[in-house]
This record gives sequence, structure tokens and C-alpha cells, in this order.
Amino acid sequence: MTVKYEAVIGLEVHAQLQTNTKIFCSCSTKFAAEPNTNVCPICLGHPGVLPKLNEKVVEFAIKMGLATNCSIREYSVSARKNYFYPDMPKGYQISQYDKPICENGYLIVHPKNGKEKKIRITRIHIEEDAGKSIHDQGDHTLIDINRSGVPLIEIVTEPDIETAEEAGLYLAKIKQIVQYLEICDGNMEEGSLRCDANISIRPVGEQKLGTRSEIKNMNSFRNVERAINYEIKRQQELLEDGGKVVQETLLWDADANQAHPMRGKEEAHDYRYFPEPDLVPIVVLDEMILEIRKQLPELPEAIKNRFILQFNLPEYDADTLTQSKDVALYFESVAKLVRDPKLASNWVMVEVLRILNEKKCKLLDFSVKPTDLAELIGLIEHNIISGKIAREVFAIMIEDNKKPGQIVREQNLTQITDEGMLKDLISSLIQKFPGEVQQYRDGKDKVFGFFVGQVMKESKGKANPRAVNNLLKDLLK
Ligand code: ADP
Ligand code: MG
Ligand code: ZN
Repeated sequence: MTVKYEAVIGLEVHAQLQTNTKIFCSCSTKFAAEPNTNVCPICLGHPGVLPKLNEKVVEFAIKMGLATNCSIREYSVSARKNYFYPDMPKGYQISQYDKPICENGYLIVHPKNGKEKKIRITRIHIEEDAGKSIHDQGDHTLIDINRSGVPLIEIVTEPDIETAEEAGLYLAKIKQIVQYLEICDGNMEEGSLRCDANISIRPVGEQKLGTRSEIKNMNSFRNVERAINYEIKRQQELLEDGGKVVQETLLWDADANQAHPMRGKEEAHDYRYFPEPDLVPIVVLDEMILEIRKQLPELPEAIKNRFILQFNLPEYDADTLTQSKDVALYFESVAKLVRDPKLASNWVMVEVLRILNEKKCKLLDFSVKPTDLAELIGLIEHNIISGKIAREVFAIMIEDNKKPGQIVREQNLTQITDEGMLKDLISSLIQKFPGEVQQYRDGKDKVFGFFVGQVMKESKGKANPRAVNNLLKDLLK
């Protein structure tokens, strides 16, 4: 008899907070600075120095807590997590343990099977990042302490996730929220958002959790999903062969498409957490929570629903347009300036996002501003150019940095709607292709398309398609 298994997954996500200065000192958090230049005795971990908590870090953590339906602890405690790492000179990391700042939240994701899924968030705590070991510059290891003391929040889920798809959706949601809140840039490739996955499997119907492994080092959404599927399959094959899963930490190797063991349970750390004696507890008053709640921006879910109502967009469009905040803002600016918001949605989703993708460009640096795109869409709406010509104009706008109206004028692209002109054109074609005219009159409807094509060719794509259709029907009779 074959046993059916189900997977159980819990995610731990670290998000690097975009504060100007570090969590316990006033060193800069600037990325890519000369190694070991953003350091001081505090983040170098010299003995006898005293950390002071950066208030922004507390504010950012509370923002994330509120955005993920957590309760905020009135009284939370910093804790020392003791372990040795060459790039962590203090020999401990200041984190939080049993009294984290945010608890008991959740997010809802929508997998393709159509059933919405609630993923509970156990906790969100504040901690400091360690330095960086650099192994790829010769046969030695270099240490850069710049990252030491950069603030992080760690967001931990309950083991509620069942598939790689759900994990990917959850992670996308976290990324979207931190970006909307402007507390983290959400870049997985650069490591500002990092995800560890805890994975176990159990026979369907079994209540008890199986033994889990933990995969680290997945630096893209794709890798997270691949690693989870890999590990579910590995554990299943292991159990089917009569083996047992051992608790261990694995490192994902994206090139090999495999996970390799990093350390087993025997080597698991006993961190010997204890309350950090150099910091006072964090006390969050109700007024502070109220104040932060007031500052929260409109969140993606709310904007999505508003787009559906206000602009009458399909859910798919609203969802795509709100994936990132800058796209949502861009679309909204365009939509407000045109007659048909759905046309604006198509242009942003298809043309704008395609170009940004191709050019690896951010919207902020995109030369076509919302007013320019709205002007272009206006030209379509007023029947001055066709959609097809508009795409050509759009390409020129990007290349030459010119306004759409100017391009249409300079290149004489205005649509031909003038009946007299179109009639003349069609009459000349009827004379030029007598055979085809006869075929059409003999009932070969397909030849109609041939004539449409000829009119478009002769008019360099400028003939108004609807007018051409009507006139052709008349004149070919
Ligand atoms: P640790 O601090 O050792 O990583 P935690 O208890 O904080 O352990 O759990 C970390 C993550 O592992 C959480 O997201 C939790 O939901 C998940 N988890 C715990 N047990 C299991 C299990 N048996 N299978 C899958 N995930 C698990
Ligand atoms: Mg863990
Ligand atoms: Zn410092």
C-alpha cells in the first residue's frame, strides 16, 4: 500500500530595514560602501561599549506588524543570541526571544486552485545583522563589518504552508508590503530580503508534524520554490525507501539545483538566549501605535479593491497593477487623465511593463511620464491614431524622448478618416486588382482581407480600420 504524504512548511523571512543609520550606533547603513568604513566601536563589538536602540527600527517593525495583522507588544525585550561567526566580533547577536515586538498576525494568499489560504504569522522581531565573509577573492577569507548592526526584522510563520506555490505567494506578499511601507527595498537578489524554509512531510491525515529540515541561501523567488519542491521530493523518496528524515540545515545550490547539508542536529546551536543587559525593554504606548497606524500608506490589497471599484478594472488587471507601488501610482495618474481606464490599464500592463522589463529600468527612471502616456492614449481615444500606430509612436517616444503629439505631427501619422480620400484609394485598388474583385463577388469572402491589407499598405497603416471596413463592403459590392 502506498502512503500519501503532505508537506508542511514554515518560513523565516529576514528583511533589511531602510534606516539611514544602524540599529545600535550612528554608523551609516549605505550599501556597497568601501569595506570596513561604516564602523565604530559599537558595531565592531568592542568590549565596554553601550548600544542605543534606533527608534526608527521600532517604528518600522510596528508598521510591518500592523500591515500583517499582528498585535503589538506593549513590553518587548531584547535578547542575546550567543554563537560564533567570524564576521560577528561580539560573539553574540542582539535579537529578541520570548517577547518579540509583534505577534499573532496573518496574511491571506490566493493559490491557483481558487481556495484562499490563511498563513499565520507567529512573530516579528527586531535584530541586528552580522558582518560579511568574502570567500571569492583568492584563497583566503576577507571580513567586512559594514553590515554588522544593520537593522533587520525577522518574520516567522506558523507551519501553515503546504506547497511551494503558497510559499512563493506568501513571500511575494511580504515583498509587496515592505515595499509599500517603504521599510525595505525587498530585493532578494541583493539580500535585503532573505528567506529560510523549514520543511517536513507527513502521511495525509496524520496530526503530528514530521521531522523538518531547514533550507537556507535561496536568493530568488524561483529558487525558493525550486528548493521547496526539491526537498519535499527528497524526503518523500527517503521515507518510501524506508529511511528517516534527520533534522538538519541545508544550503541551496542554485547551479546544481540541489541542497547540500550544512550542519546536522548534533551541531545545532544552543544559543543560550538571555535578556540583553545593556538595553532597557522596549515599551510601546498606545499613542505610538495610533500615530503609526495613521501614517500607514494605503496598502496593496486596499488599492487593488479601489481600482476594481473606481476604474471598473478586472481583478486580474488590478492585481497586476498593484504588484508594486510605483506601477500602481503610475497607472492611477494615467487613468485619471484618460476617458477609458481599461485602455490605460492595457497600456501600462502590456507596453510599459514590457519595456521596463526589457530595459531593466525602474519606473522612476522611465522617460515616458504618466502625462505623456495619457496624451498618447488620448490620441487613440479621439481617433487621431490607431492602436497600432500608437505602439509605433510609443517606441519613438522612448527612443527620442519626444511628446506623442509632436511625433504624430512630424511624421504625419494622423489617421485617415476622410471618406473621400479613402474612397479614391479603394477605387484605384479595384482597378488594379480586377481578378480579386471578381473572386470576391463570386463569394470568396477571404479576399476581403486582402483588400484591407492593401489599403493599410497604401496608407502606411494610417487608414482608420473601421472606415476602411465599411467603405470596402460598399465599394466591392
Ligand atoms: P528555530 O528557531 O530553531 O528555527 P522555530 O520553532 O522558531 O525554530 O521554527 C522555525 C520555523 O519552522 C517556523 O516557521 C515554524 O513554523 C517552522 N516549523 C517548525 N516545526 C516544523 C515542522 N515540523 N515542519 C515544518 N516546519 C516547521
Ligand atoms: Mg530557524
Ligand atoms: Zn557603528
